[in-house]
Amino acid sequence: MFAIQKAKAGKGLEATTIESQKPKDNEVRIKVTHAGVCGTDMHIYQWDDWSQKRVKPPLILGHEFVGEIVELGADVYGYEVGQRVSAEGHIVCGVCTLCKTGRAHLCKDTVIIGVDRQGAFCNEINMPAPNLWPVSSKISDAHAAIFDPLGNAMHTVMAFPPSGEHVMISGAGAIGLAAVAMSKANGARKVTVVEPSEHKRQVAQKLGADVTIDPFNTDVVATVADDKPTILLEMSGNEKALETGLKSLLEGGKVALLGIPPKAVTINLAELVIFKGLTLQGIVGRKMYETWYQVDHFLQNHPEAVDELVTHILPAQDFQKAFDLLEAGEAIKIVLQFAE
Ligand SMILES: [Zn+2]
Ligand SMILES: [Zn+2]
Repeated sequence: MFAIQKAKAGKGLEATTIESQKPKDNEVRIKVTHAGVCGTDMHIYQWDDWSQKRVKPPLILGHEFVGEIVELGADVYGYEVGQRVSAEGHIVCGVCTLCKTGRAHLCKDTVIIGVDRQGAFCNEINMPAPNLWPVSSKISDAHAAIFDPLGNAMHTVMAFPPSGEHVMISGAGAIGLAAVAMSKANGARKVTVVEPSEHKRQVAQKLGADVTIDPFNTDVVATVADDKPTILLEMSGNEKALETGLKSLLEGGKVALLGIPPKAVTINLAELVIFKGLTLQGIVGRKMYETWYQVDHFLQNHPEAVDELVTHILPAQDFQKAFDLLEAGEAIKIVLQFAE
């Protein structure tokens, strides 16, 4: 069957074929129909510092997908052949303190599909049954394929209840844009987006942003001084954006950090965090499975918002085009189609 793999060190990906594998007793075999291309895939495609340390080629990429169960392992119950499912791509140990106390997204022994083991850019993938997420018939394939990044957005938005708050979002890629719509859907009084790309600022407005600011040509802190944000969702991983966001916040504000800085950052902790009484929260993965319920609800009630994010649905064989479009900044979210 067809698969997209990182064959060797260096930039690029290759088409390949692999054999179908029998699921282990606790796994199901899934026919992948659609899979999302993510920033993580782009890192591995470009073979940056992070992926050189983490990824061991050959590896089939892809961790966001939807498909149909074609075979059940011997010990699997509660699912049936033919059922449409997505899945949490973080496979956790299930026995550590964090897994045992409702914080499995922080499990130190997490194995990620498409990063540490075979991913979903393939006609089939085997997944442990506890990771499956049954998909409602009300949710389209293209939308169901991106539960994972929408989950990152939702996890960040819900870190601090947005109801009645002024939420500032720095960085409006696919996840930042999703966070705009989710913040509004969850009662944010006002959403301010800081993003250099004019096109992305326009999409943010369509998704409900009240104010959009170009940080390269506008003084962000001065612009929000009359009505300071109370929550900052940092989605860019950019040091300057973080500093600007911290300066912009009202005293006592809350900060959820999802964007990953490529290297250590320097901030004035005393002036920007301690004396302002800010609360900082790092965000990784999705809560299992509270976040999935929240995303499910969002997908069923706001499909028009998700349509703004999925700019391309391409045949899986055209994966090179997908990476070219993303690299050129000409797409927001691309979904690859592996089967009908
Ligand atoms: Zn992803
Ligand atoms: Zn664990």
